[in-house]
Amino acid sequence: MDITVVGGGLAGVEAAYQLASRGHSVSLFEMRPTRYSPAHKTPLLSELVCSNSLKSKELTNAHGLLKEELRILGSIVINTADQAAIPGGKALVVDREIFAKRITREIEANPLITVIRREIQDIPAGTVIIASGPLTSNALAKRLAEITGVNNLFFFDAISPIIDGGTVDMDKAFFGSRYDENSDDYLNCPMTGEEYDAFYNALIGAEKVDLQPFEKTSFFEGCLPVEIMAQRGRQTLAYGPMKPVGLKDKTAGKEPYAVLQLRRENMAGTMYNMVGFQTKLTYAEQDRVFRMIPALRNAVFLRYGSIHRNTYINSPALLNNSLCLKGQDQTFFAGQITGVEGYVESVAMGLVAGISAHVSIMNQVFSPPPEDTCVGALLNYITTPNDNFQPMNINFGLIKNYRKRAKEKVIHNALQAISLWNEEIDEISKK
Ligand SMILES: Cc1cc2nc3c(=O)[nH]c(=O)nc-3n(C[C@H](O)[C@H](O)[C@H](O)COP(=O)(O)OP(=O)(O)OC[C@H]3O[C@@H](n4cnc5c(N)ncnc54)[C@H](O)[C@@H]3O)c2cc1C
Repeated sequence: MDITVVGGGLAGVEAAYQLASRGHSVSLFEMRPTRYSPAHKTPLLSELVCSNSLKSKELTNAHGLLKEELRILGSIVINTADQAAIPGGKALVVDREIFAKRITREIEANPLITVIRREIQDIPAGTVIIASGPLTSNALAKRLAEITGVNNLFFFDAISPIIDGGTVDMDKAFFGSRYDENSDDYLNCPMTGEEYDAFYNALIGAEKVDLQPFEKTSFFEGCLPVEIMAQRGRQTLAYGPMKPVGLKDKTAGKEPYAVLQLRRENMAGTMYNMVGFQTKLTYAEQDRVFRMIPALRNAVFLRYGSIHRNTYINSPALLNNSLCLKGQDQTFFAGQITGVEGYVESVAMGLVAGISAHVSIMNQVFSPPPEDTCVGALLNYITTPNDNFQPMNINFGLIKNYRKRAKEKVIHNALQAISLWNEEIDEISKK
């Protein structure tokens, strides 16, 4: 049976390779070079559209652990990245041309994969994996909106940073919702007038990431970057997302001058979102400026804020935990379009989609990777009901019970659990 994969980016290549390695023949459709996204520049498969870093190599970092799990699972993308590595300190940095050329050569030479250079504008019949990425072509995006419902397809990320809940200074922060001191829905980080002024000046002067030309139209009033809001006047934030009304700081015995509110990202309270702090500040500047908020002086950022063009679906509403569209058991989604964020996260969701489609074709039941692995935690995040669904990169806060165990144990368990899952998939393949 021929399986169709739409998109020859990081996720599509990984999905096609996983299927072909298990004996399936695959038609891999890539629209380049006939049509280019605004960010891609070459006809090569798996082109890295921006940075040439695949982030940390260290297992004590969630990005490093995710890559190690993918190595165990036989990822072509990560293995090729290892071969194309150039010096980059603690990060896996690659020569982008060697990396993409090697993958293209290997995929094109695979006897079970046919690469077809054509834009797909509708969902093909039969088993299909949609991996068309954050810059999915307009025609296909329009069709996806029809299938998923327009409210379930998003075109921009306007994401606020996420803080490790355990690193907020609780001597400075206090729980409470506006006019409800007893609620623990929000963790409030108060500021005095002096602290606010210093923070404001740093924010206004901080270094920002340049916008790509195609991103310039993406700002709209509902999700202005916090630094742009601040430019409108010294008090705009104190009367906007940082307004203190209805919040009493019991330690100070009064309403603060301004407040950053942190909203829970998960039930366990391991992750908190900085409400209204979507931003184009560089990551280094987010670290520097946002730590000027007293309760955040030692905060660990699990995800930095950003705003950019990004096509993604409302996976928690649309997909089941096999990355299959609910009610349509032959249509799978992979990569960044599922609501993960980042190169390696996209590879991970390409790999899972490929394996899941394989298990489905074998008429077997797919059991997802365990939630105490990075791959399983990401899959769990994007397929668990969530009214505030926003794209997510891998971080330890997503891993089940991560706070209850020593980090060495978390790493050991993750690697052991992913190896066992790999063996289970091998057993299914033998049937
Ligand atoms: C501008 C930009 C910069 C980014 N920078 C980084 C970064 O520095 N680091 C990081 O970790 N992540 C970054 N990301 C996020 C993300 O990780 C990457 O975009 C990643 O490439 C996503 O992998 P993917 O396979 O899902 O999509 P892609 O790699 O984009 O692959 C999708 C493929 O589908 C093709 N395609 C699209 N529509 C069709 C169609 N209708 N028919 C056929 N083919 C189609 C595209 O040409 C493309 O080759 C960035 C994203 C963007 C948009």
